[in-house]
Amino acid sequence: MTIWNAEKQAVLEAGRRMSEKGFVVGTAGNISMRLKESGGRKFMAITPTSRYYDTIGVDDIAVVDFDGKHVEGEFSPSVETMLHIGVYKARKRVNAVIHSHPVFSSAFAVSGMEIPPIIEDQVTYLGGGIKVAEYALSGSEDLVKNALAALGPRNAVLLANHGAVCVGRDLREAFTNLEMLEKTAKIYICVLSIGRPTPIPAESLEAMSAYFIYMHGDSE
Ligand SMILES: [Zn+2]
Repeated sequence: MTIWNAEKQAVLEAGRRMSEKGFVVGTAGNISMRLKESGGRKFMAITPTSRYYDTIGVDDIAVVDFDGKHVEGEFSPSVETMLHIGVYKARKRVNAVIHSHPVFSSAFAVSGMEIPPIIEDQVTYLGGGIKVAEYALSGSEDLVKNALAALGPRNAVLLANHGAVCVGRDLREAFTNLEMLEKTAKIYICVLSIGRPTPIPAESLEAMSAYFIYMHGDSE
């Protein structure tokens, strides 16, 4: 047991939920939470690499500092550790990151098609249209760079031929944003199969986008 036990427990539970809800298959995906600074160092708790979520315990959640140094946990941290650290460095108000492989969202990640802002809760929760980051190999420096560029100030981004990254001010919000992204992707696929989307009126889109920036923007 460590000072970060509660946070590790929350990361573990979110990992199990992500797996049970079918947002990943097998050991894929990874979840992290920003931890309180300790001794002037910044840390996060993150799921270990290549472990089934129903076989790991609280102590198996890794703790890593913002240089990527592994400080707690027997198993190696996720291969996407630097992606999570990159998000925390770029987005001061983000305290949780979930990388998953949700089926309908991944269809857009494979097609390379962005999801435009089609429905109101997508805009207020996720910040508008969802971009597809340029392809880069899993775990690479380019993946971090491309994902951050396409994420921008929003709460979700698609990784080409791979999956999704969703962020939030806390773990519950990041998980809700994952559910919101997948719901939006399903709706868009349905819309494309029956017709074309009717755009949200520009004034409303502007008002909802302003609300999102007020709630989630880094400049206060
Ligand atoms: Zn992945």
